[in-house]
Amino acid sequence: MAELAADKHVKYIVSVEKKKGSFGSVVIEHMRVNGAYWGLTTLDLLGKLHVVDVDEIVSWLISCQHESGGFGGNVGHDPHVMYTLSAVQVLALFDKLDVLDIEKVSDYVAGLQNEDGSFSGDEWGEVDTRFSYIAICCLSLLHRLNKINVEKAVKYIVSCKNLDGGFGSTPGGESHAGQIFCCVGALAITGSLHHIDKDLLGWWLCERQVKSGGLNGRPEKLPDVCYSWWVLSSLIMIDRVHWINKEKLVQYILDCQDVENGGISDRPDDAVDVYHTYFGVAGLSHLEYPGVKAIDPAYALPVDVVNRIFLGR
Ligand SMILES: [Zn+2]
Repeated sequence: MAELAADKHVKYIVSVEKKKGSFGSVVIEHMRVNGAYWGLTTLDLLGKLHVVDVDEIVSWLISCQHESGGFGGNVGHDPHVMYTLSAVQVLALFDKLDVLDIEKVSDYVAGLQNEDGSFSGDEWGEVDTRFSYIAICCLSLLHRLNKINVEKAVKYIVSCKNLDGGFGSTPGGESHAGQIFCCVGALAITGSLHHIDKDLLGWWLCERQVKSGGLNGRPEKLPDVCYSWWVLSSLIMIDRVHWINKEKLVQYILDCQDVENGGISDRPDDAVDVYHTYFGVAGLSHLEYPGVKAIDPAYALPVDVVNRIFLGR
């Protein structure tokens, strides 16, 4: 059986950083803040966060913040709730949340809630349950959930539940593993998991495992390493993770590694990227792979970071 090439993956992430000068450059320009989150969380899960220059990253992140309190994907880019959560998560990794004006950031996020309880991603107004999760996760990490109408937010998410037990992006939208993760995560953080039919949803989720051991996001689709995260996290939150074959999934993720140059891809022999490297390592964390730190399925941060924020230890 193959093994996790942890040192190679650390080298890969650090090399992508060095190639273009700034850490965030691991992915396309306008998504650098997301790239920083994926890369740095991977390093932390592998116990190697100390190899990066914290001050350099924190000052770059702060320069991505807008007057409104929200963060753009890079310096000079428009703010969006997605980049705002990534920025908060990176600062949480470094235990640097105190550099933020918490009221300003949380006012920005809370201001994106609509009358029906849903959330827009930015000032342009696109509505999606992904943004409900992102806003709720972000406000919870900042201890500011009281700034939104949680009851309405939950009601909106529940209105996106389908007959198959899954969730869509808006009411009536098709069930999809990524969307399900967002809805289950938001319900978990707000203490509302009782709205889920755990057996029905658990069945839909465990049917995502295909012959190779990998997981897909919807029926009839190809497996992809990133669904190891979306599906496993959801199964853990509803206590049904024992319904999939863990050994086969571990093997699938390991088969997607570039064991020579580091990094993990979506499927065996495809090109690696930081996004799938993160989701592969995070998936292995959920599968209790030796040497990988535990990650929280709802907050998508290492468990020790989440404990520091909520338990002060
Ligand atoms: Zn993918």
